[in-house]
Amino acid sequence: MNTVYGPVPSRRLGVSLGIDPVCSTESNKICSFDCVYCQLYGLGPTAYTTERRVYVGTGRIRRDLQSALSKASPDIITISGTGEPTLAKNLREIVGMVHGLSDLPVAILTNSSLIPDRSVREDLYDIGHVVAKLDACSQESFSQINRPHPDIRFEDVVKGLTSFRKGYGGKLSLQMMFIDANRGHADEMAEIARQIGPDEVHINTPLRPCKVKPLAPKEIEAIKMHFEDLNTVTIYELGKPDVTPIDMNEALRRRPGL
Ligand code: SF4
Repeated sequence: MNTVYGPVPSRRLGVSLGIDPVCSTESNKICSFDCVYCQLYGLGPTAYTTERRVYVGTGRIRRDLQSALSKASPDIITISGTGEPTLAKNLREIVGMVHGLSDLPVAILTNSSLIPDRSVREDLYDIGHVVAKLDACSQESFSQINRPHPDIRFEDVVKGLTSFRKGYGGKLSLQMMFIDANRGHADEMAEIARQIGPDEVHINTPLRPCKVKPLAPKEIEAIKMHFEDLNTVTIYELGKPDVTPIDMNEALRRRPGL
């Protein structure tokens, strides 16, 4: 398995070369959540964990990245993949390696679950753009939508994100996925976003293949009204760049339907 995939088209980030720091032969998906809308459901059951450990050595990622950069010209390098990337204990080492190898901007897509942990926040400080998931307004909706590991509490995640924002000088995007289960909570979610103070809010709905139906453009527009005083962009306002991955199978494994 290659630890680097893409480039893939990203509505938010452009032509994105992905690094998957938790891909493993032990399990197809390693995550602290099991979101109802997860696009990786085809990979089988989630290896459910909050344990930070080295899933893939930094040297192996370096070799795969060097090879990919010799074949592709992405806009950005994004740390994401088959699960939650902050579970990788060598995250800071990986980020340092990427900065040493390339001048491209670096982003990470995190589900925010480990952000209550100071060492995770410190690892994220080295990354220029952090895209952090927040889909709920209470423990109840958190459990219903993200189905987190039992050790993760919603209140701690919000506190962790608020604390992270205070110490972080890069770009923080809050990514909020709206589906039928939370469409009625837009007002409370906007209030939490105001408390955290991100640079922007992405209002999403799952357009890639998954087990949950996306909301229609007019429903997303109605949700956006609750965020009027925030810098907000919805998934329906963004186009996707045209890009061909180096290895389509490796890309489709992480991004079904691309
Ligand atoms: S956080 Fe991402 S990878 Fe993990 S279950 Fe949710 S959507 Fe899937």
